[in-house]
Parts: sequence; structure tokens; C-alpha cells
Amino acid sequence: MRLLQYLCDSVASVLFVRTCAACGCRVEGEKDGNIDRYICCRCMALLPRTEHFLLRNNKLEDMFYKEQAFVRAAAFLYYRGDDSLPSMPHWRRGVTFMQQLDRHTMVQALVHRFKYMKQPEVAYELGLKAAKEGILTDFFDGIDVIIPVPLHPRRLRKRGYNQSEYIAKALSEVTKVPMATGYLVRKRDNPQQAMKSGAEREENVRDLFKVRYPEELFRKHILLVDDVVTTGSTIRACMEALRECLWCSISVFAIAIAH
Ligand SMILES: [Zn+2]
Repeated sequence: MRLLQYLCDSVASVLFVRTCAACGCRVEGEKDGNIDRYICCRCMALLPRTEHFLLRNNKLEDMFYKEQAFVRAAAFLYYRGDDSLPSMPHWRRGVTFMQQLDRHTMVQALVHRFKYMKQPEVAYELGLKAAKEGILTDFFDGIDVIIPVPLHPRRLRKRGYNQSEYIAKALSEVTKVPMATGYLVRKRDNPQQAMKSGAEREENVRDLFKVRYPEELFRKHILLVDDVVTTGSTIRACMEALRECLWCSISVFAIAIAH
């Protein structure tokens, strides 16, 4: 019986072994506190940081500095390329992936995992890491509530989760600032932004969000959370909707900024 158990465990560990979402090495048993890891320590250390937590007037802040009530912004990583599946060397057998995998391809792979491959845990883990680095600075000081950019209910049903909500949950876990969903609502299921130009994106997101119970956000400092920011048009549309909340101030966090 014990032998059978041993065989079953061995087969399961071969078939269902957890591998790093960026490089493909084994992460089975690696833990961050009591949470299973989806990204190995080495990849996590190598990911291309923006250092925005320490830099004011950074590239993300440049996108929003003209917006009413805007305070500060930070993206955790640089993101290069599009959302398509990167050609990942470790998906071919017997290739020494780390020699071929550049740091930007890693970010592309991670984004692809949490956006299209039903692995929101990757977004959560990146959120935890970002928050642990961000909390060492004054970036999260004075934030009252964390609000993820919402998906339209139809998109949410199709994908099964909102990756920005996973990121927001991770930030909330580390900073102890509450996360709130339900205040910001997406009115239309607008077409994907990925293939659109800057002007088309602005048009695509015009009047896209609305705020429910704006009086409850009165005087609050809101941290808007998104996964990847490209032109900032979605965040600007959220800010436009949040104008309804009197005296609120708005900061922005994103896991990655496209460059
Ligand atoms: Zn790795």
C-alpha cells in the first residue's frame, strides 16, 4: 500500500510538477511565506525593475501629470513587445533556456501567463513582490483604498478572473490598505486595446467607466491598479469617471509599463 502511494506521488510529481512561469525551471516546494511560488527566485531577481517607487516625475507619472487630482504613479517592471506568446526556448526540450532568455522576454512570458493562460496567481505573486519593494519607500503612504481597473462582466465571465484584482489583492495584503471592487464599473465591453493606435485607444475608452456610490469615496486617496500600461488611456478613463468623487485624489500602480 505504501509502495502504491509512493508510486502515485512520483507519477503526480512528474506530471504536475510546478515550473517557473518565466523560465520553466522547477519551483516545486519553493515558498514565499506560506504561499507557493510561481516564479523562481532567480527570475524574480532578474526582472527589469523601473525603480519608479523611488523616482518622481517618472515615465508613468508623465502620462498623468495633467489629470485632475493625480498624485503619483509607479510601474514595477518594464514591458517590451506585444501580448502575443513569446518564443520561449524552454518550451523546447533540452535547451538551456536561461542563456537565451532575456529579461524582457521573461516579463512578456509572465504577462501572457496571467492574461491568456488562466494563471492569475502569477499576477498575484508579482503584486506581492512589487508591494514588498514599494513599501520600503513612501509610495503607499496616505493611500486610503486600492481599486483595480474593472473588467466588463462579460469579459470577466469569459476569462474567469480579473488579473488587476489579483494584483490589487496582493498590494492590499502587504500594505494592509483595503481593496474595494464595485465602486468603479465598466459600462461597455470595449474591444481589446492591444492592436490600436494612441488616438484609437482614447476613442475606444471614452466614457467607459462609471462610479457607484461616489459619496463613499469623498476625500479618499485612491490607488488605481492596472496590469500593463501602454498609453494610459484606460487609466485616464477611470480618472475621468472618478471626477464624480469630490475631493478625492488618485495615484496609479501598474505591474508593467510598455516601452
Ligand atoms: Zn525562473
